[in-house]
Amino acid sequence: MNYAGLSLWHETARDSFVPRPALEGDLSCDVAIVGAGYTGLWTAYYLARARPDLRIVVLEAESAGFGASGRNGGWCSALFPASQEKLAAMTSPEEAAAQHRAMRGSVDEVVRVAEAEGIEADVVKGGTLVLARTAPQLVRARAEAAAAAASGTDDVTLLSAADARARLNATGVLGATYTPDCAALHPAKLARGLATTVERYGVTVHERTRVTAIRPHEAVTERGTVRADVVVRATEGYTAALPGLSRAVIPVYSLIVATEPLPTSVWDEIGLAQRETFSDHRHLIVYGQRTADDRLVFGGRGAPYPFASRISAQHERNAAVFGKLRSTLVEMFPVLHGARFTHAWGGALGIARDWCASVGLDTETGLAWAGGYVGDGVSTTNLAGRTLRDLVLGSPTDLTALPWVGHRSPDWEPEPLRWLGVNVGLRAMTLADGEERLTGRPSLLARAVAPLLG
Ligand SMILES: Cc1cc2nc3c(=O)[nH]c(=O)nc-3n(C[C@H](O)[C@H](O)[C@H](O)COP(=O)(O)OP(=O)(O)OC[C@H]3O[C@@H](n4cnc5c(N)ncnc54)[C@H](O)[C@@H]3O)c2cc1C
Repeated sequence: MNYAGLSLWHETARDSFVPRPALEGDLSCDVAIVGAGYTGLWTAYYLARARPDLRIVVLEAESAGFGASGRNGGWCSALFPASQEKLAAMTSPEEAAAQHRAMRGSVDEVVRVAEAEGIEADVVKGGTLVLARTAPQLVRARAEAAAAAASGTDDVTLLSAADARARLNATGVLGATYTPDCAALHPAKLARGLATTVERYGVTVHERTRVTAIRPHEAVTERGTVRADVVVRATEGYTAALPGLSRAVIPVYSLIVATEPLPTSVWDEIGLAQRETFSDHRHLIVYGQRTADDRLVFGGRGAPYPFASRISAQHERNAAVFGKLRSTLVEMFPVLHGARFTHAWGGALGIARDWCASVGLDTETGLAWAGGYVGDGVSTTNLAGRTLRDLVLGSPTDLTALPWVGHRSPDWEPEPLRWLGVNVGLRAMTLADGEERLTGRPSLLARAVAPLLG
């Protein structure tokens, strides 16, 4: 497989993708990790740093960073898939606040480790601008800033239209929210750099080694069985293909387009001088970043959920969604009219039924997991890695007391209900944005389907 062709990020990762050796026969170790995305690699990293004597083996079906970790939008943010309000209702306001603080710290931790380990992942912490471009979006922006102020955090500022436009000159800007808690980065450089780093600390990474079943203290592959005290499932959007897990986490595709490197004159017009990541307050998620080499990378949801959670490269290429992303970007920034779009790709993120990420370890079976990050995994995986370290080492810490630890999401509905529900939800979000543009009022449809979307 030509891994360099997977995305702009893979192509520009300055990596030859020479495969690491596959597993050859049975072996025993202390910790076996299934999946070499950020979850698996951060877990290996923190465990190896804490306990250099542990035998840690990572089993990867393809190549380190093959999945969402190599392909994402590069927002390393403090966002957690379950909102503060939802977490507070599930646990307590104090626990929700602790999770939020941990998320904010995770952004800085990713920046710190990348620098400390010499991982050149083009990391710049410029924060995030979320524009309000319709009256209902402005209502949501104000509500978000008010909620942050009420909860005593200082991380969301409401910007006036003029202040927002001075930083990001999109069409129709009425205001924005700004948070400093986000770093823009090059996803594949981070994933590939982490893989090299963990090897330096003594971790073994086997590529082209697909795990066909995870059992208590065992990861079974076609090339041999790995026996371990702890087996960590770090397969996120691919989880449904594992026996017994078909309804645990569903894959939803997010797609991205990228421009050629843009000249200074264009950037003078657009802004993003601090490499802020950006979005707007629409319902159907979109996200953008200015890359280190001055491209605009812009992604969004909208691709249909595949029946029975079937993963396929075909779902990563949806011409209609790519076209919509390109036209949305030109509509936001007319200066891009005529600019060349050079790359388009996609990947699967993972969603649990209650849209709440979780991490945990069952000490009896030795089975550990982390995932369900929706589109917020770049920093949350780092928190997962540090938490799994503490769980595996059996040392209760502030991290192991966070509310997402040990949380069990319910299973998704069987098909065809799942397919129907998720796709109705996705479609409704697109329609809700159209409804708001037309009426200038908050969408009733969005409110009606909100329970479907967690
Ligand atoms: C297009 C896109 C844009 C995104 N943008 C952002 C963003 O800007 N910010 C953000 O925070 N999050 C974003 N996300 C989400 C984020 O990328 C993920 O949450 C995060 O990368 C998940 O990391 P992971 O290691 O858990 O999973 P993955 O990176 O998907 O890694 C799982 C790995 O497991 C391997 N694997 C699967 N099954 C097996 C098996 N049976 N045996 C062995 N190996 C297996 C896969 O090959 C893969 O390498 C985005 C996701 C996508 C797809």
